[in-house]
Amino acid sequence: MSIVKPEDDWIACPSCDQLFAIGQMQHGETARCCSCNHLLSTYRNKPYESVVAYSISGLIFLTLACSNPFMSFKSSGLESVMSLPQAISQIRGEGMWDLALLVACFIMIIPGLVLVLAMFLGLSLALGWRNCWAKDVAKVIFHLQTWSMVEVFFIGVLVSLFKIAHMATVGIGLAFWSYAAFAIFFTLALSRLDTYQTWKRLEELEA
Ligand SMILES: [Zn+2]
Repeated sequence: MSIVKPEDDWIACPSCDQLFAIGQMQHGETARCCSCNHLLSTYRNKPYESVVAYSISGLIFLTLACSNPFMSFKSSGLESVMSLPQAISQIRGEGMWDLALLVACFIMIIPGLVLVLAMFLGLSLALGWRNCWAKDVAKVIFHLQTWSMVEVFFIGVLVSLFKIAHMATVGIGLAFWSYAAFAIFFTLALSRLDTYQTWKRLEELEA
C-alpha cells in the first residue's frame, strides 16, 4: 500500500475518482487515468499568456457576431436578414421567453462571461498576482464551461443550413464567420486553462 505524502500532487480522476500522484510534467505531456483513460492534465509551459490572447480574440469576435447580420433568406422575391439578437427576440416574441432566455444564456451570455473571467484569471496567473478572488473565479469558470453550448449551437446551425438550402437562397453574414472564429478561440482559451495546472499555480501563488 502506498503512503500519501503531503508534498505529492494528488489529483482525483473526475470520471472514476481514483487518486493519482502526478509528478513533474514536461511541455506537451498528458496524464491519463490508467483505469478509465480519462484525460487528467495536459501540461504547457506559460499557458496563461495564450489564455489572455485567445480570450480577448474570442470576445472581439463574439461582439462582431452579436452586432452583424448572421444569415439572410431569400425566397419568392422576399428577403429577410437576421442577427443573433433578432433571432432570440423572435423566439421571445412567439411567447417562448424562457426558451429565448436559455438560448441567450447558452450561446452568448455564459460563453462571454467565461471568456471575461478567463481573461482576468489568465492575466492574474501570468503576472503572478496574489488575488483572494482568483480561486473563486477559477471555480466559476470550470463550473460554467460545462453549460456553454457554443459548439452544439454551431453544429446545429450547419445542419439547419443543409436542410433549408433547398427551400430558400441562404446568404451567410459576417456574424456567421465571426461566431465560427469565436467558437475556435473559446475552445482554444479553455483548452489552455488546464484544471490541474491552474490549481497548482494558484496554490503556488498563495504559498
Ligand atoms: Zn478514471
